Amino acid sequence: MSPTPIAIIVSIFLVLSIPLLLHLIIYRTSSSITLPTFLIIGPSGSGKTSLLTLFERGEHAETRTSQAPFTVETSLPISTSTASSKYRSPNDPSNQVHKKLLLADTPGHGKLRHHAFESIAKPQNLKGIIFAVDAADISPGTDSLRQAAEYLHDVLLLLQKRSTGSRSSMGPKELPVLVAANKLDLFTALPAPLVKTALEAEITSVRSSRNKGLLDSGVGMNDAGAGEEKEWLGNRGEGKFDFSQMEEVNVPVTVVGGNVLGGDGPDVKQWWDWIGRNL
Ligand code: GDP
Repeated sequence: MSPTPIAIIVSIFLVLSIPLLLHLIIYRTSSSITLPTFLIIGPSGSGKTSLLTLFERGEHAETRTSQAPFTVETSLPISTSTASSKYRSPNDPSNQVHKKLLLADTPGHGKLRHHAFESIAKPQNLKGIIFAVDAADISPGTDSLRQAAEYLHDVLLLLQKRSTGSRSSMGPKELPVLVAANKLDLFTALPAPLVKTALEAEITSVRSSRNKGLLDSGVGMNDAGAGEEKEWLGNRGEGKFDFSQMEEVNVPVTVVGGNVLGGDGPDVKQWWDWIGRNL
């Protein structure tokens, strides 16, 4: 049992190399995990690509028409706090570290929306969905309001099915939706509370025409038995729809105004704050 020089050298080698090896293995596995991802969806022309470029580079650039999903890596601005930093002291050095995230832009054109639906159905560390709307082109009675409402209705219905179809007794994790009422720099733009009521009213109308379609095709409202996925949005699919009905299926919806462009520069701080809260 007397210590020999060889035994001492081997022990020192092991003591030094094991932590290094462990660090390398853990680092490799954790870096292969997908970064927290936020999906940007919405009708064409609502400003998705402009928003993505601004969030990526901190400046506006000429945008291209999106034909396929496009993902960029970016970091939360240092000044934006995250949910996990809520209890940290303001002087904690980890507050100064850039929190990385992925932003995925999806094509808004009707025929290409399957890309957005696929990304929602097979989420890779999906933390939230940003639904961009052009607040200057969403007045009640317009086609553009109808199109935005139909798209949002379909996204919310998919999220609801994801939740009600979940096998786990706890249901799927919360998946928040931010309705980003963009282009508030334009004087014709509706303020966020009016964007909210306009969308809720139009979704009510989309829902009742979809329900009527279901009834006409022979699928009754009472036909969906226990365990079957409901085809209509909201609790019973009747009456007035409002975004708070989505909370029951763990999908909190928030409508917040802002602008990517404008004479006074962009105003996207509240959108970053929402991302920070859900990161
Ligand atoms: P996408 O089709 O949803 O990706 O929309 P784009 O990002 O291509 O934007 C459509 C148009 O709206 C472009 O001409 C942008 O310059 C313009 N745009 C985007 N955001 C704003 C904004 O906040 N204010 C104004 N005035 N125009 C904007």
